[in-house]
Amino acid sequence: MSLHAALGRFAALGTVLVATDYDGVLAPIVSDPAAAFPLPGSVAALTSLSGLPGVTVAVVSGRDRATLGRLSGVAAPIVTVGSHGAEWAEGFEAALGADLLQLRSTVLSALSAIADRFPGAAVEPKPLGGALHVRNVVDPAAGAQALQEARRGPAALPGVHATEGKAVLELTVLDASKGRALTVLREQVRADAVLYLGDDVTDEKAFAVLDAPRDVSIKVDSDPAVVTAARFRVDGPAEARSVFEELAALRRS
Ligand SMILES: [Mg+2]
Repeated sequence: MSLHAALGRFAALGTVLVATDYDGVLAPIVSDPAAAFPLPGSVAALTSLSGLPGVTVAVVSGRDRATLGRLSGVAAPIVTVGSHGAEWAEGFEAALGADLLQLRSTVLSALSAIADRFPGAAVEPKPLGGALHVRNVVDPAAGAQALQEARRGPAALPGVHATEGKAVLELTVLDASKGRALTVLREQVRADAVLYLGDDVTDEKAFAVLDAPRDVSIKVDSDPAVVTAARFRVDGPAEARSVFEELAALRRS
């Protein structure tokens, strides 16, 4: 079945959940994560989808939820889930107990100590932990070594959960995944089917909870060598935007 045919079938169902990653899908990947803004028209297409009867739209990102909202400009009724499926509402971090807050601070200190020794490496604090970014480390071998030190160090602490990404290792003090987030959303919405788009390693956990042929999973990556559990592929954010636009048009007709 072609993606076009799968979208047609999906659009004809009663209640659907349309969910998507942010970076690499709605927003092109850029070297400065703080400047990753949506492709023009992407959020408009999602917003128009979210206004149609029987459609719930969710953006599920590794970003903390506040940053996701600020960068994307996405607002209700679109649901935003941050920190790889762990952060569902503002101020979530306040609900962490003293032990988890202490563990988070230990993780951040250890990551910062590693980043200090590898020029270009950066630590991004998150409500539930932190991420070590090595995208801007000039020597790829040094970047790989920094990630390896993080895996052997703070990632190995009891209660710490690691998520691998492209040139990033994210550590959290609560177990969460985009797959679990999609499962929760599917139940909340009572969706007949779920569509999900993602570009990164973390999105594979989301693809893994989707069932063909009813659900529609789309990998956003132009490199055919990248292995994915998704059933369909598109090249990049512009093609992802086309998926949202086509879906809205199909749903309206
Ligand atoms: Mg992404």
